[in-house]
Amino acid sequence: MRILIVEDEKTLAELVANRLKKEKYLVDISNDGEDGLYNALMDVYDLIILDIMLPGIDGIEILKQIKENNIKAKVIMLTAKSELEDKLLGFNEGANDYVGKPFHIAELIARVNVQLRTNQIKEKNLEFGDIILDLKASDIINKNTTERINIINKEFQLLEYFMNNPNQILSKEMIYDKVWGLDNNSLSNNLEAYLSFIRKKLKLINSNVQIKSLRNIGYKMECNNEETK
Ligand code: CA
Repeated sequence: MRILIVEDEKTLAELVANRLKKEKYLVDISNDGEDGLYNALMDVYDLIILDIMLPGIDGIEILKQIKENNIKAKVIMLTAKSELEDKLLGFNEGANDYVGKPFHIAELIARVNVQLRTNQIKEKNLEFGDIILDLKASDIINKNTTERINIINKEFQLLEYFMNNPNQILSKEMIYDKVWGLDNNSLSNNLEAYLSFIRKKLKLINSNVQIKSLRNIGYKMECNNEETK
């Protein structure tokens, strides 16, 4: 799941981002209101952590625009303890929660998890064909043979995306947006390489799951029954 942090205190933003990444969330940061609004309106986030006092456009205005544009992301507002009025204003504009500054990172993470619990598949493992993606251990497991192999970082995120959308054609653009998000121009050449690593791992555990390349269209995860052991 993808989270946007809109916060002009760069150290704080980085700190929160690193903790969220450890929880296997994908995280982008905007350090000012304009960039934050632009990113929020892309509608690719499941949750937005939104500071109120921002250079450029403030958090309340961004929240307004999020609601007006029917952006589906949950919103947690960050507000200085003294800004009680802001807090109330935030709820009126439709924020899902607020966290008073200064806050313990652990509390913010807990609140993020609460907001995302409803659409959270993270707690359950993903299954397709003969494989299970163990989300806690970051392993792919062949459920017939119990062979397992570790899969991390971009490979993990890619496989997770495919397993959430099995038997569907996923275009390169969809994959870049979902897995690479904002930094997708620098890394775009690596998709084939990551996919070949994943294919190799699937082969190593003797899985019947395949990721097929469809020329000029995209990719599709399928289960090849003939190869079932
Ligand atoms: Ca601020």
